[in-house]
Amino acid sequence: MKTANKIPVLNPATEEVISEIPNQGPQEVDRAVTLSQRAFEKWRWTPAHEKAELLHEVSRRIKEKTQDLAKLLTEEGGKPFRENVDEMGWSASCFDYYAELQRNKRGRVIPSVEPSQLSLILKEPYGVVATIVPWNYPILLMSWKVAPALAAGNAVIIKPAEQTPLSTLQFREIFDCFPSGVVQILTGEGETTGEALVRHPGVSLVAFTGSLEVGKHIAKICAEQVKKVHLELGGKDAFVVCEDSDLDVAAKAVAWASFLNTGQVCTSAERIYVAEPIAKEFIGKIVSFTKSLKVGSGMDPETDIGPMIGEPYRKKVEAHVQEAVKRGAKILAGGRKPPHLSKGFFYEPTVLTGVDHDMTVMKDETFGPVCPIKPFKKFEEAIRWTNDSIYGLGVNLYTRDTGKVKQFYEKVEAGTVWINDPLTDNDAGPFGGYKATGGSRELGEEGLEEFQQTKHVHWDFEQKVKPWWYPYGRKETTVPKKTKKS
Ligand code: NAD
Repeated sequence: MKTANKIPVLNPATEEVISEIPNQGPQEVDRAVTLSQRAFEKWRWTPAHEKAELLHEVSRRIKEKTQDLAKLLTEEGGKPFRENVDEMGWSASCFDYYAELQRNKRGRVIPSVEPSQLSLILKEPYGVVATIVPWNYPILLMSWKVAPALAAGNAVIIKPAEQTPLSTLQFREIFDCFPSGVVQILTGEGETTGEALVRHPGVSLVAFTGSLEVGKHIAKICAEQVKKVHLELGGKDAFVVCEDSDLDVAAKAVAWASFLNTGQVCTSAERIYVAEPIAKEFIGKIVSFTKSLKVGSGMDPETDIGPMIGEPYRKKVEAHVQEAVKRGAKILAGGRKPPHLSKGFFYEPTVLTGVDHDMTVMKDETFGPVCPIKPFKKFEEAIRWTNDSIYGLGVNLYTRDTGKVKQFYEKVEAGTVWINDPLTDNDAGPFGGYKATGGSRELGEEGLEEFQQTKHVHWDFEQKVKPWWYPYGRKETTVPKKTKKS
């Protein structure tokens, strides 16, 4: 279906083409970067209170257009409409948060070496920032980068995922409150538009959210140019349920953490470890709850679980489940395309038991509605399994035992630890991962610092010779004054 320079956009619930977008190449990227560089020279010096007004204005406009944006996002991305309304709310709130934070976060004064001196730590922007985002939370993940990047004084070029560009393109109007060139949006394939941005020498920082494979590729290109890169990559989050938990609540919590956005969340719970004495009862509850969930179009208000984003993603989920079953796992719910839906990239929410760490479904990111459950005997064992992953994004724990809580958050290798409340984000709380998840952070003060470089200014008000200067070990000789004769 792809023509030379257009990319079709599909509705994943119906498989119909709903629009097409330009596949913008190196020339368009070069023009955008030049405009961005010019805009940056003014934007960086824009007073903080004016930046704040504009960032708040973006938030106001998102709130005003929430219904339309959420509808468009459901059409192109498949997520249930109410989840997309939430996404708009979080995105608006992120712009408000950075509007205010940047007014106080421009550096500090540190103690100087001598009384005649002043030492300043300045936080400065990088220049042109390229933000490359995936399709699962297109507006939220764009906001988590664009709001702090602008707040720090950078100019930004956004490249949305080719599957979900339409809602992002609506932001051309939302961002028109900024001076021309401060925020631009380019559309196209990763290998074309995305890579041209990453390679462009005028781009000073690449902020990327996406897969480990593409993240590594981008990091290599940036390393060759010694260009700053910010990476938010995959995850394989564990969810540990202890025996003191309220099992009705825990079963719903695990189902939500595993199936939200059809399991296409970087922090989806993809490995569930349950204390052995409660495993049977817990599994019974989650299986019957999973079977009650409604799969269908995201525009139906009763739908819990929408389609996946595309056929290759659905196939990957199928392959993980089938391989697990071949190796001895059991499907207790789901495990197939819903028979009542002939069109669309749907997959039933699936509960697996009898799983082990030699199965792909327990090692690689599945990124689909699959909840594999493995009982543990000792809490220490659950912690060891939790850390048995190349990724370190988030982890979840269900318990009321404060000793276990402390032991867990001290020992787990993850950027976020959720206790009794899965997947809740906070604008002021940094988000990102350990290990192969990339090590960068979004949100919070750390999220602003990712887009600031640090300059130390050491200033002496007096000009005097220092005792540690040359000459060493000799008396200083004064230079003879020139006479008229010589
Ligand atoms: P992806 O890596 O295939 O694509 C992400 C973006 O990168 C898209 O915009 C794509 O066009 C672009 N891209 C692809 N190839 C490129 C290249 N060569 N140069 C420049 N840009 C390129 O990922 P995806 O399948 O769209 O998203 C799913 C992945 O994203 C999962 O692994 C998920 O865990 C991860 N993710 C991580 C977080 C986080 O915060 N850590 C959040 C959401 C999603």
